[in-house]
Amino acid sequence: MTDRLVLYGIGVSAGTAHGPVAVVTPAVGIDEHEPASVDPEADGQRVREALAAVSEGLTARAAHANSETSRAVLVATATLAKDRGLIKGVDRELKKGAGVTKAIHDAVEVYAAKLRKLGGYMADRVTDLYDIRDRATARVRGLPEPGVPDFDEPSILVAQDLAPAETATLDPQRVLGVVTEAGGATSHTAILAAQLGIPAAVQVKGIAAAVVDAPTLALDGGVGEVIVAPSEADVTELNERSRRRAAALAGSSGEGATRDGYKVKLLANIGTAEDAAKAAAFDLEGSGLFRTEFLFLDRDAAPSIEEQTETYTQVLRSFGTRRVVARTLDAGADKPLSFANLGPEENPALGRRGLRLSQQREDLLDGQLTALANARAAVEGSNLWVMAPMVATVDEARWFAERARAHGLPQVGVMVETPAAALRSTQVLSVVDFASIGTNDLSQYTMAADRLQGELAGLLSPWQPAVLSMIRETCRGGEATGKPIGVCGEAGGDPLMALVLVGLGVASLSMAPTKVNAVRAALRMHDRDTCRQMANYAVDAWSAEEARAAALKLADPVLRDLL
Ligand code: PEP
Ligand code: MG
Repeated sequence: MTDRLVLYGIGVSAGTAHGPVAVVTPAVGIDEHEPASVDPEADGQRVREALAAVSEGLTARAAHANSETSRAVLVATATLAKDRGLIKGVDRELKKGAGVTKAIHDAVEVYAAKLRKLGGYMADRVTDLYDIRDRATARVRGLPEPGVPDFDEPSILVAQDLAPAETATLDPQRVLGVVTEAGGATSHTAILAAQLGIPAAVQVKGIAAAVVDAPTLALDGGVGEVIVAPSEADVTELNERSRRRAAALAGSSGEGATRDGYKVKLLANIGTAEDAAKAAAFDLEGSGLFRTEFLFLDRDAAPSIEEQTETYTQVLRSFGTRRVVARTLDAGADKPLSFANLGPEENPALGRRGLRLSQQREDLLDGQLTALANARAAVEGSNLWVMAPMVATVDEARWFAERARAHGLPQVGVMVETPAAALRSTQVLSVVDFASIGTNDLSQYTMAADRLQGELAGLLSPWQPAVLSMIRETCRGGEATGKPIGVCGEAGGDPLMALVLVGLGVASLSMAPTKVNAVRAALRMHDRDTCRQMANYAVDAWSAEEARAAALKLADPVLRDLL
């Protein structure tokens, strides 16, 4: 049995948890010791049965999926597992003399190469194909399928990493917390865990090995602390932290404002109409980021204008007269669209993504703007704002603003996600009505560090003084033009960082709805001058750690209970 051990990672979803461990099973790979097939027919039958079982299992999980997106992914994968071409490929490899698991892997590789060549939607299925390969391989080896295991008691999940699709299907009633060895703070997995309100820590090095013999874990998803085989005293201390947090949150309600009454709008990040309905039930002032691309992913054609109108109308209805900031299609890079594939790119994150894709596919943008305008007209009293992702030049901002206004949309803005837009924010803002800083991408592009690389978490921190300087420049543009600046990246949901952002001049913060209470409570504890002072110290710091420490030093001690 493992002795008590404390590990630290990055806290990405605040809250504490204590309970049994459920280890997400890793993929097993080829059996290195398997003999060559001497009876290809019988071996082929074994693989057929394994694939059929995989397909059945995925179909059963699809029935319990908690969102339309994850259901669609599971159904598509279940269908692919029954593909005749795949089974024939396995038979071919077996006849050539490969062992069973090698035949599966080789056949999948041949099939994957074909899909990649077809491009678009078919190329996107390669990930599903690998999932099928790993499940079928485990089955023929008599091992548990990789992925989230079935467990009876509510548990803390421990994984090397979790795919966004896996995270999306987690049930917050049964999953007490999530701890991963890899992953990044702005990965979609982290974003989804926060959205679901599940305490989570990523980049917890050594956790997989540490839980091999450990029946229980304690987790503080705020500070990223994980205690393996916690003692009774640890659990008491964790419960005490949880009690203090609840006390610090008590009475956190109503409009966001600093202690001296400076108003800061607190808004929700959403991706679907379901998210909107859930978020609208929280005590918050609208949505500062509606990631519309979620409606476009995992499809082989763009949704019709009617379907889009229906979805956007539902979102606006959920929020009534509260503000909703819809971001137009942000496809490309880690969110590829099969039907809007502009061809292979060496560096997709620096390629034709976001607004650049919309400029190539004006039909997609116009369809969206038409549907947004229809939805706005359909919901009386609605307060719809629209903004473009990945803007780098004034011309792009103007191009988007003219198009959106031509559709009758009155509030048009841009996201500030590139250093170019941050440094030229006065000029950019002069052609639009507002800006919203996407700190996830702004950190990635300022620090030249891929946001999907968990190992680069230190560089990707929004506490990096260079990133804070970019935010300050953006806010200066806001001041010069009198246009409001918001933040809708993950940084906005960190109570301490929120104070710094307000000190820099940000007027609204958008985050996972579960984070709003803590940010509101943090704002109420501090006046605007303190926020400004924190901001000055943080921007002047020489490192991310120093910036955070400087802000924390000026904070009310009770704030620590919210982190
Ligand atoms: C961002 O980049 O900060 C942002 C909010 O957009 P996304 O995370 O969807 O890229
Ligand atoms: Mg972004």
